[in-house]
Amino acid sequence: MADVKKLLQGFDNFYQKYFVENPETYKNLVLEGQSPKTLVIACSDSRVDPSILMNADPGDIFVIRNVANLVPPFDDDMSHCHGTSAAIEYAVKHLKVQNIVILGHSHCGGIKTLVEEHNHNHNFIDTWLEIAETQSINQICKNNDTETACRLCEKEAIQISLNNLMTFPFVAEAVQQDKLKIHGWYFDLWSGNLDIIK
Ligand SMILES: [Zn+2]
Repeated sequence: MADVKKLLQGFDNFYQKYFVENPETYKNLVLEGQSPKTLVIACSDSRVDPSILMNADPGDIFVIRNVANLVPPFDDDMSHCHGTSAAIEYAVKHLKVQNIVILGHSHCGGIKTLVEEHNHNHNFIDTWLEIAETQSINQICKNNDTETACRLCEKEAIQISLNNLMTFPFVAEAVQQDKLKIHGWYFDLWSGNLDIIK
């Protein structure tokens, strides 16, 4: 339970900062609504929280987090539960964000599973990771040891997600009209470096 206590103390600090010392912050965000300019698609990994990494304030970034920060290709079968696609749709169509950042990272457990296993248990994780099971990823896995393959696949998966983003008609249209820019960033947990891939 120690963990939860720490989180509740953290909330007290947050409350003090935004509701006692700067009460206008949330009042304005409620009265005017949110208008974040950037959608960040990051991994669920506890070490790569975009708000912490980017020192963001409330209202700055709209965030999607999932296993391995993947974007599925556009799929117009609306009978499926497309959580990531729904959030992309909301960010682009309704919030009209001007940037989408795919934030990948080193030592990603999701990518490691993709590199090491290929066992197709047909559980949620394996099915989800199939998004990144491309020829390029398979080639990297075949030609490298596990650690090297993981680092290369983490970066390649960012490229796959960038490509998949463009399969969404409303994303492609906004990019063509110069209303939206898409970016790929890679955070190295060991060195602390942030590589700008795109
Ligand atoms: Zn990850």
